[in-house]
Amino acid sequence: MKRLRSHVMGNWHEADAGFTPLVNPSTEETIAEASSAGIDFAGTLRFARERGGPALRELSFTERSEILLRISKALHARREELIELSIAASGATRKDAKFDLDGATGTLSYYAQLGHDLGAGYVLPDGEGVQLTRSARFWGRHVFVSRLGVAVHVNAFNFPAWGFAEKAACALLAGMPVITKPATSTAAITERCVEILVEEKLLPSGALSLICGSTGDLLKLLGVEDVLAFTGSAATARELRGLPNLLAAGTRVNVEADSLNAAILAADVEPESETWDVFLRDVTREITQKSGQKCTAVRRIFVPHELIDRAEEALRDRLEQVVVGNPTDPKVTMGPLATRRQLDDAIAGIAKLAGQARIVLGAGKRIDGFGSDPGKGYFLAPTLLRADQPQTAEDVHRHEVFGPVSTVMPYDGTPRQAMDFTGMARGSLVTSIYSDELDFLEKCLLNGAGLSGRLYLGSRKVAEQLPGSGIVLPQLTHGGPGHAGGGEELGGLRGVHLYMRRLALSGDRSLLERMVEEAEAE
Ligand code: NAP
Repeated sequence: MKRLRSHVMGNWHEADAGFTPLVNPSTEETIAEASSAGIDFAGTLRFARERGGPALRELSFTERSEILLRISKALHARREELIELSIAASGATRKDAKFDLDGATGTLSYYAQLGHDLGAGYVLPDGEGVQLTRSARFWGRHVFVSRLGVAVHVNAFNFPAWGFAEKAACALLAGMPVITKPATSTAAITERCVEILVEEKLLPSGALSLICGSTGDLLKLLGVEDVLAFTGSAATARELRGLPNLLAAGTRVNVEADSLNAAILAADVEPESETWDVFLRDVTREITQKSGQKCTAVRRIFVPHELIDRAEEALRDRLEQVVVGNPTDPKVTMGPLATRRQLDDAIAGIAKLAGQARIVLGAGKRIDGFGSDPGKGYFLAPTLLRADQPQTAEDVHRHEVFGPVSTVMPYDGTPRQAMDFTGMARGSLVTSIYSDELDFLEKCLLNGAGLSGRLYLGSRKVAEQLPGSGIVLPQLTHGGPGHAGGGEELGGLRGVHLYMRRLALSGDRSLLERMVEEAEAE
């Protein structure tokens, strides 16, 4: 049986007790086990802070960007191997595995380019300088400097490669050492990624550590200059945010949590038009990609009263074509959920939503998967519900079912009501709006954009280029207010700023500007 190892204090650590089994979700075979027992977490932090941090901070942005590029290339070179591993270890289809891996290498190479463009400096400018008194000599300005601590990344199970890489890219470019902790159920993929980077000696010692298994007392040891970036459920986020040491030290905590994203079809969209088609295409993909285990998946679909029956029928038609089963079979287009717990939670979640909505597709229970043994595998059919009273369907707006599950609801066709209903989630990552009418879109913006972190506009002129609302691009921020965690990652340099500290400077203009010039990116 394969035992996952952690990489700490410059060495591989293999535990000898306390193992959690990792299971192939299509076959239910145990494929590996993981434990972090025996890790010296205080020593791990010290090593990262004292070895990794200074080594990274000695490198300029250009030099750090070269590391990112080498990491991206090394992972890309093992793409086939990692895809195979992902299929077995997470139940991803080939397409879904590529989505995770190409997302990882693409984000790394994006940040490599960004770092390259920053040049040979160590601090980042933040706006223009400003005269502070009557004298032109007394001058002020802001810069970002690297934090002196460690970036601890706690990731969700659904993106074992991308989740690791997107966070690491930003932190490493900022000059912070990383301790990455993947969700245990799919940690085999992250472990292999880190193994490749260690084998190829791509990073300075202490710049990247890996914890497979629980975090032990690691998070209780974080302090003032550290960063905790967490992706996972709102319940875990609440627990971690409240850790007394983090509160006492004012440690920076970034949270990406649950999100009940909405797709809105505007009243100007005619059935069978290009915008109608792109709405159906996107929503179907956002329900089924990665078996709906995506923080950006569409959970709520708002359609004007007069179009709802037609839209529901068209969505059902598309979702019925999905072949659920073992992704090793090429006919399969959607894999299982990642774990038994995810399946049980999704089934319980559908039952909860069914208290306020009716199921119009799917049975709300486990099914046998194509190409899998009867009774084996965590398979769930695409499930569509309909709630005709969105105003009172509190659970539909608040309870995230992390699977191929979405609810279609009517609205009166006004942007005001679309945004009011969208906002009932009290904070989400992304809202997609399908409309060719500027007025509708403008009013959505004026009405708070439904408390979303990102608006994705689907319209006729870009129909061919739309990648889907669930794609998280490094150029745009990823995160959402309220229930979605209130965090912000990526978004170009904004994602790097998370790992740096804004510093206000004031003093003699010429001295100050020369000091900054020396350290600043070219
Ligand atoms: P989870 O149970 O909260 O776990 C997330 C991570 O936290 C895992 O690595 C887990 O490790 C770790 N963890 C759990 N309890 C912990 C504790 N007490 N101390 C330290 N670490 C702890 O969430 P999940 O079920 O893996 O992920 C699904 C959820 O993530 C969904 O609700 C989804 O919306 C959300 N998500 C959000 C985003 C986003 O970007 N907003 C992206 C993906 C997923 P173990 O696996 O070892 O328990």
